[in-house]
Amino acid sequence: MDDPTQPANRSLATRILLGLVVGAVAGVALNLQFAPALGGEKSAAYVELEWWADKIVKPFGDLFLRLLFMVVVPIVFCSLFLGVAGLGSVGKVGRLGRLTMQWFLGTTALAASLGLLLVALVRPADRISPAVAAMVQEQYAGQAQEKIAGAQQSKNWLEMLVEIVPDNVVGAAGDNKKLLGLIFFALILGMAATRLPPDRTRVLRELLETLYDLSIKVLGWAMQLAPLGVACLVFHSAAKLGLDVMRLVGWYFVTAMGGLVLYQLVVVTALAWWFGGMSPRRFYRGCRTLIVTAFSTSSSGATMPTTIRTAVDEFGAPKEVAGFVMPLGATMNMNGTALFEGVSVLFLAQVAGKDLGLGEQMLVIGLAVLTAIGAAGVPGGSLPLLAVVLMRVGVPPELLALILGVDRLVDMTRTIPNVTSDLVCSLWLSRREGHPLKA
Ligand code: ASP
Repeated sequence: MDDPTQPANRSLATRILLGLVVGAVAGVALNLQFAPALGGEKSAAYVELEWWADKIVKPFGDLFLRLLFMVVVPIVFCSLFLGVAGLGSVGKVGRLGRLTMQWFLGTTALAASLGLLLVALVRPADRISPAVAAMVQEQYAGQAQEKIAGAQQSKNWLEMLVEIVPDNVVGAAGDNKKLLGLIFFALILGMAATRLPPDRTRVLRELLETLYDLSIKVLGWAMQLAPLGVACLVFHSAAKLGLDVMRLVGWYFVTAMGGLVLYQLVVVTALAWWFGGMSPRRFYRGCRTLIVTAFSTSSSGATMPTTIRTAVDEFGAPKEVAGFVMPLGATMNMNGTALFEGVSVLFLAQVAGKDLGLGEQMLVIGLAVLTAIGAAGVPGGSLPLLAVVLMRVGVPPELLALILGVDRLVDMTRTIPNVTSDLVCSLWLSRREGHPLKA
C-alpha cells in the first residue's frame, strides 16, 4: 500500500488544499462580480457564469466524486467481511460492536447537545428581520418542498429497522443510500465465517483481500485527481452561492459553523488525545488529506475509503479494526450532522416564534441522534430527515427554505467531524485491543 507519509503524498495533501483555495477564491470573486442582488434580475453574464459552473466545471468535480463512490461497495464489503472474519470469534465482534455503538451514540448526543446550547446562547433568530426572512423563504420555497416530499415518504423507526435487512443483497449494493443493507450482509457473512474451519474460508478471504487491495490502489489513483476535482466542486458551490445569502442568515450561519469548528477543534481533538493517545499536532498532521477530502466531497460515504487509509497508513491502526469501524461509522456516526440538526431545529423554532421547553429540547437531541444515524453519508443526506424532525416538534418544515441557501458550506463543514469521529473511534479501539499506534 502507498505510504502517504512519503514526500510525494505529503505534497498531494498540499496540492488538494491549494485546489480548494483556488476554487473558492475564483468562485466567490466571479460571484461577487456578476451575481444579482437577492431577488434581482440575473444579468446575461451571470447566466453565462451559471452555465459554465453547471455544465463545464461541475462534471469534472462529479467525475472525481464518482471515482470515490465507485470503490465504496467493494471496500465496504471486503473490509467488513475481512474485519469480522479476522476478529476470529463472534464474542469479539460483539465486544467491538458494543464499544463502537457506545462511541457513536455518546459522541453524537454530545454534539447535538452542544448545538442546542449554542443556539440558546446566541439566539440567532432574534437577529434576522422578518422582511428578510420572508424574501429568503420565497426564493428557496421550491427546494424546501422537495425535501419535505422526501420527508413525507420517510418511514417510522420500526420500518427503518426492518429495512436494514436487505431482501436483495445485490439491490442493496446498487444504491449508495442503502448501504446499511450491504453492511448487515457483510457483518452476518463475516460472523458465519468465524464458525467454519479456517481452511474452508481461506480462498474466499484471499480473494477478498486482493479485491480490497486493488480497490485501495484505484482509490490512490482517484486521489491523484483530487486537486482538480476539489477545485471544481468548491468553485461550483462558491460561484453559485456567493456571500449574499450568508449575510442574510448570517447569525444562523455563524452559530452552525462556529459550533462545528468548536466541536472539531475542541471536542474531537480532546477525544483524539484522551482516547486515541494522539497529540493535536500529530493528529492533524495525519488527517490533512482526510479533512480536505471530507470538506470538498461533503460525503462521509465518498470519504470512507480515505478514512480507512488514514487510520491504517497514517496512524497504524490494524486493518480489521479500521475495516470494521469505518463502514459502520460512515453510515451511522455523524457528529457534525447531529450538531447541525440541533442548531437548525432550535433556530427555525425560534424563527417560528416557538420556544422549545426542556422536554422538547431533549426530544430534539434524541431525534437528532436517531436521524444522524439514519442519514445517508452523501451531500445533503440529512436534509429530508431534518424536515422529519421539524414536523415532529411542530415547526413548519417549509422554514427549511431559510437555511438551504447556506447549507452547502455547512454540509461540507459538518462532514469533517462526521469522519474524524470515526477515525478517533478506530484509534481508541485499536489501543484497547492492544495494538500500538504509530507515534
Ligand atoms: N454530508 C453529510 C455526510 O455525508 C451528511 C449530511 O449531514 O447531510 O456526512
